[in-house]
Amino acid sequence: MSKAILETYDGTATAVAARARDLTKVYGQGETKVVALDGVSVEFGRGRFTAIMGPSGSGKSTLMHCMAGLDSISSGSARIGEVELTGLKDKQLTRLRRDQVGFVFQAFNLLPTLTAAENITLPMDIAGRRPDTGWVDQVVATVGLADRLGHRPSQLSGGQQQRVAVARALAARPAIIFADEPTGNLDSRAGAEVLGFLRDSVRELGQSVVMVTHDPVAASYADRVVFLADGRLAGELHEPTAEQVLDHMKAFDADGRVS
Ligand code: ADP
Repeated sequence: MSKAILETYDGTATAVAARARDLTKVYGQGETKVVALDGVSVEFGRGRFTAIMGPSGSGKSTLMHCMAGLDSISSGSARIGEVELTGLKDKQLTRLRRDQVGFVFQAFNLLPTLTAAENITLPMDIAGRRPDTGWVDQVVATVGLADRLGHRPSQLSGGQQQRVAVARALAARPAIIFADEPTGNLDSRAGAEVLGFLRDSVRELGQSVVMVTHDPVAASYADRVVFLADGRLAGELHEPTAEQVLDHMKAFDADGRVS
């Protein structure tokens, strides 16, 4: 992949994995019109773990889907590395998602008939790419799955299944991983494990991760937390504690607006 070094507004070179500029997303028309994102400009750093937080309906999922090329945008710009998503044809977008983007979902989305090892390399098998075995071994070691590779999902706990999903996302070395409430289906201990592995993948493997969450404890694993309210950016925190995240969330009223 070409270097994702972009000039920021002040002219300094910054490594950016993905970025939105004045991103607006409108659903529906007329009386059913909903402005889900209203001019969002944000950059997600390379080799950084960023959490997106905000009240329900604030636009977190929409931002992630637009940035990942899963949903079209109404105006503005969304880039993965140096590639502008608007204007890409369906096939190009599919290829970009396959080659540059990793996903981790709340429901682990593993194939039940395949072993953990087969699930991990499935996206590359589909793409006809030969897995880099040294890298896959490193990923498997990082997420602590070495002794579970022959197991099928039904033989694994929820936390282990999600670790397989994290390994699957990491194995193809995507430019960026988007994780949508990755701990939403896990108890707090398994959740902590998965979050620890996501953080390790950033610190030890240099991966870039963007995670949508509503959980202040989950967000506290990130290097940076970006807040959304009512489709707009509403502040950010760097290396916050869960308490600091919670305090920031308290500034939003019941309608999701900053009070
Ligand atoms: P969050 O993830 O923060 O809960 P969403 O991004 O899901 O918020 O939603 C932001 C706003 O956009 C909400 O008002 C939601 O109802 C609306 N919305 C999301 N998806 C659609 C859709 N497919 N059609 C119409 N409205 C939508």
